[in-house]
Amino acid sequence: MLFTELGLSEPLLRAVADQGYDTPTPIQAQAIPQVLKGGDLLAGAQTGTGKTAGFVLPMLQRLMAEPARKDARGRVPIRALILTPTRELAAQVEESVRIYGKYLPLTSMVMFGGVGMSPQVDRLRKGIDILVATPGRLLDHHQQRTLDLSQVEIFVLDEADRMLDMGFVHDIKKVLAVIPVKKQSLLFSATFSDEIKALADKLLNAPALIEVARRNQTNESIAQLVHPVGRERKKDLLAHLIKTGDWHQVLVFTRMKHGANRLCDFLNDSGISAMAIHGNKSQTARTKALADFKAGSLAVLVATDIAARGIDIDQLPHVVNFELPNVPEDYVHRIGRTGRAGAQGEAVSLVCLDEEIFLRDIEKLIKRSIPRQDVPGFEPPANEKAEPIVLGRMTIGIGGTQRNGGGGGGGGGRGGRPGGGGGGGGGAGRGGPPRSTSGGGGRPGGPSSGGGGRPGGARPPAGRGGPPKR
Ligand code: AMP
Repeated sequence: MLFTELGLSEPLLRAVADQGYDTPTPIQAQAIPQVLKGGDLLAGAQTGTGKTAGFVLPMLQRLMAEPARKDARGRVPIRALILTPTRELAAQVEESVRIYGKYLPLTSMVMFGGVGMSPQVDRLRKGIDILVATPGRLLDHHQQRTLDLSQVEIFVLDEADRMLDMGFVHDIKKVLAVIPVKKQSLLFSATFSDEIKALADKLLNAPALIEVARRNQTNESIAQLVHPVGRERKKDLLAHLIKTGDWHQVLVFTRMKHGANRLCDFLNDSGISAMAIHGNKSQTARTKALADFKAGSLAVLVATDIAARGIDIDQLPHVVNFELPNVPEDYVHRIGRTGRAGAQGEAVSLVCLDEEIFLRDIEKLIKRSIPRQDVPGFEPPANEKAEPIVLGRMTIGIGGTQRNGGGGGGGGGRGGRPGGGGGGGGGAGRGGPPRSTSGGGGRPGGPSSGGGGRPGGARPPAGRGGPPKR
């Protein structure tokens, strides 16, 4: 199949050809004709599949097919709204809108928090056809009456699963309440939890369904490897791998922001250029780090899960899990940064004894075991014992989940979403000794084991999610 067979107009085909693409990816081949038809769409696709062009191209074509109803001052209304969970993803999607729409007279804008509002207000006043936004800032503008969403014809919810994980469900509902009921709605999500299905039910009208990668499947073109390592040797091992492997572009994940900063300092002291990208950094610092990394002048970008969401770098060769995520789905998202759109990639996880519990969860989710390979000189010491992992106010590991600092009770779901209903419901604690395969009071080791733990693989009713702050 070629792009020319999808029913796209000439200016769009020219823009696609300028990118060097002639063959649509599977999500594009399926989504483009569906969106062109005008109906709603529920699409299962994760980043790296080419999903952005899958909705941007037909959206541009549909906007061109109908002329905009300009206001008395000749300004166009916002006709397409794309919501994304993160600033980086918003910027990236809007860049795609500009790339694919470069031969069309449509205008676009990206909007997110962390930067001044008034330049955004000025831009909005001029009129734009397509708005790509994160929910918080969009609602700020709506409250201040600096934008009008009453003319939206096409609404896209991108990475809907991550939006919910980040606690945006109420914001999404507020946005839905202020855009027209009659519109074309497209929902993209890498996974389909019950919450996503409920959202899809509310938002979509007789949607076409397409799914390109089975839920939680990892990309076959990514080579995955685990290096068992002593707790105190991780930093040295990372520097060793980067130097001996002659790695020039490595995305490294940590669980927490302060860990990202400390690791950057260590790498820079070791002569490896590194910068951190996470929620505490200013938008300017994040943008600069990403630009330097993309340009190749920065060898290592250290990121937390939320900050890294949406980072799109073509053919990123190396992703390193310096620390495994406590949310197994994050592993799939993390390693999706490499091996994108068919390119080969390598995802390496540095795993100390404390994290075996996370590794088991990940392997269960992706339904395969990841090969282990010792790196001589960095093996875990024979006498090392597993210790609990502290995540914000939670401790995970030996003996289940505990809240640090007293109070709270409950022993609920792991992590606890910022601002969300974490905890709750007794007995959902995660735990059991890291090496046991079943646990009476903790989370069961397998789908069939009983006890008070979280039933195999299912989401706990509330409070799942990352550590309180990332
Ligand atoms: P996405 O999943 O939308 O984040 O896209 C992942 C990457 O695939 C981006 O770097 C795109 O530029 C690239 N891409 C999109 N469509 C194609 C295509 N048809 N062929 C090759 N690469 C593509």
